[in-house]
Amino acid sequence: MPQAIISVKNLVKNYGTFQAVKGISFDVFEGEIFGLLGPNGAGKSTTLEIIETLRTKTSGDVTVCGMNLDKEPDSIKRVIGVQLQTSGFYPGLTLLELIELFSGLYNEKVDAMELLKLVNLADKAKNKYKEMSGGQKQRFSIATTLINKPRIIFLDEPTTGLDPQARRNLWDLIRDIRRQGSTVIITTHYMDEAEQLCDRIAIMDEGKIISLDSPDKMIDDLVQSGFERPKQVKAASLEDVFIQLTGKDMREE
Ligand code: ADP
Ligand code: MG
Repeated sequence: MPQAIISVKNLVKNYGTFQAVKGISFDVFEGEIFGLLGPNGAGKSTTLEIIETLRTKTSGDVTVCGMNLDKEPDSIKRVIGVQLQTSGFYPGLTLLELIELFSGLYNEKVDAMELLKLVNLADKAKNKYKEMSGGQKQRFSIATTLINKPRIIFLDEPTTGLDPQARRNLWDLIRDIRRQGSTVIITTHYMDEAEQLCDRIAIMDEGKIISLDSPDKMIDDLVQSGFERPKQVKAASLEDVFIQLTGKDMREE
């Protein structure tokens, strides 16, 4: 059996009389890329922010790296990396200055250049944050989640609004992070992304988990049930055409 690094049991979140999360239970295994999918309003961000200790729950039990959320929230904070909203960065500081600022806040010694290299931004080290493109800002915000060498990284829609090249580049980065031993939890509205990237996914709708499995198994189950695509599937997608024509190189500079 794989080891659960996050365990959620009967988690409920009420906002006033509205129940946003309706008693969900799931485990995230150590070393996996776990996807939380679902339409807007499903309760994904609420669930993540509760696990991240940033939002209070109404009831239920959450364990992160063996620590109980109610008893040791501060210890949990130390072992997780949470992607900040991009607006949280001082626009006039350089990438190097920002990393130094954050590592000071975390009380961590980091090699800022090494970190920027990992997210492919070493050549932008002396540029100001406000000069970055959308994809560069996303990669930079992921770099800042790595400062405290977290065991688990939370990414809430990290690729929304990125062009296909930047999106692929971010997939590679997320795979690198996992290869280095971290567990990754990600939300996305792109099903191709979830299929490519995630070992397992939970699909949420209206506050409940309606399916949890590997993407492969979910697709096989659907086919097994007699589902057929309305038209013949082509051997390539329009996105394949786009990448073939425009190449994989990043285009933000
Ligand atoms: P998702 O991330 O899946 O889009 P959210 O967790 O952001 O969903 O929101 C789930 C539901 O809870 C939505 O209906 C949303 O409007 C509601 N909600 C989220 N945050 C609050 C809040 N602070 N106060 C009241 N309702 C909220
Ligand atoms: Mg959300």
